Amino acid sequence: MLLPAAAVHAARKGPTSREGGRVTTTLTQQTPADLDAGAAYLLALVRAHGALTRAQMNVMTGWARMTVTSRLEQLLATELLTPDGPTAGARGRPATRYRLAPWRAALMVADVGALGMRLARCDLASVVEETLDRRCLISDGPDAVLAVVRDGLEQLAADLDSRPVWGVGISLPGPVEFLAGRVVSPPIMTGWDGVAVRDIVTEWFGSPVLVDNDVNAMAVGELAASYPEVSDLLVVKVGTGVGAGIISEGRVLRGAAGAAGDIGHTWADPSGIRSDVPECRCGKRGCVESYVGGWAIARDLSRELGSERTVDDVTDLLRAGESTAVRLVRDAGRILGASLATAVSLLNPSAVVLGGQIAAASGEHLLAGLRERIYARALPLATRDLPIKVSTLWPNAGVHGLARGIADTVLGTPAA
Ligand SMILES: [Zn+2]
Repeated sequence: MLLPAAAVHAARKGPTSREGGRVTTTLTQQTPADLDAGAAYLLALVRAHGALTRAQMNVMTGWARMTVTSRLEQLLATELLTPDGPTAGARGRPATRYRLAPWRAALMVADVGALGMRLARCDLASVVEETLDRRCLISDGPDAVLAVVRDGLEQLAADLDSRPVWGVGISLPGPVEFLAGRVVSPPIMTGWDGVAVRDIVTEWFGSPVLVDNDVNAMAVGELAASYPEVSDLLVVKVGTGVGAGIISEGRVLRGAAGAAGDIGHTWADPSGIRSDVPECRCGKRGCVESYVGGWAIARDLSRELGSERTVDDVTDLLRAGESTAVRLVRDAGRILGASLATAVSLLNPSAVVLGGQIAAASGEHLLAGLRERIYARALPLATRDLPIKVSTLWPNAGVHGLARGIADTVLGTPAA
């Protein structure tokens, strides 16, 4: 059940949106989908700019003053916008600015990896309010994994303060047909091929659902939170597996079937580092992931140390600075760097950002080999001033990106 607007405001300690008491429960039960096209555009414009005065809205839209007023009134009545205080330094009478009311509704997101997931409740401004981590193997199949996701999201939704849920975002460690919200031919996700995740999840909260690949979600999060000034970014996840998320001209580059960025299953060049051609999880041999993925490093570590090691063991040993683990990760960095040099030359990103469990634990050890190969092999024009860094957003890059993505879906963007 929804609370009247005043109670929602009291619960979130936000400012009251308007005087005169004309806000009705009926209006506050509306969602952005109920807005007319003009009001929806104005909402998207305010989101894109942070906060705008009526005069700025007039200039940016080219609409008549009465049109702006009527659409603004609609957004205030539905509690989607809120006054944000007067403009600073303006001559004459200060004008009130209006911004998104982030407490109006909640967004629920789940960043699902190969071994576990991070779930989060976010506000409409994509700010993470609370997170929850659950262990779960993606190889257990869609029924088992989605049951864990649903249970976690429902636990997070218990503290909604009567706010509605307006959107759900889920990322998965495999190719996703983005518009259909469906998993397609995942190399390692047994039982997931063709599963229409969006259709299943839509029923949980009765709100729109966005399904994306895990590294694409990370890339959106990095772009929004850490690199808002750039439009071309290459984000690489080195966790159990290896994948890349490509931001090109400000948008995720997905490819024709949602498979763009799957660098983990491209042919590696280990020349000068090792001569074996290991079998990969996808069934081929010699993939980047078969040398660089957390599972591959665990395999090599088990062989060298003479006892079975897991991906979590690799992480622990890297954090402890264990010499064999460090050497294996440095070599992995060189092999990954050779492939990324090609990607950097093709895409000319403004930055390369590394995330994932192995990248986060290995720090400079992975980066050293990576930088060596990228700077040596990529075109000088593409590597001049190219930062290659470990994510500072990890492990929240994915949930942040999902919250941004579903917020854009629900609240709209000016371009749309
Ligand atoms: Zn492979």
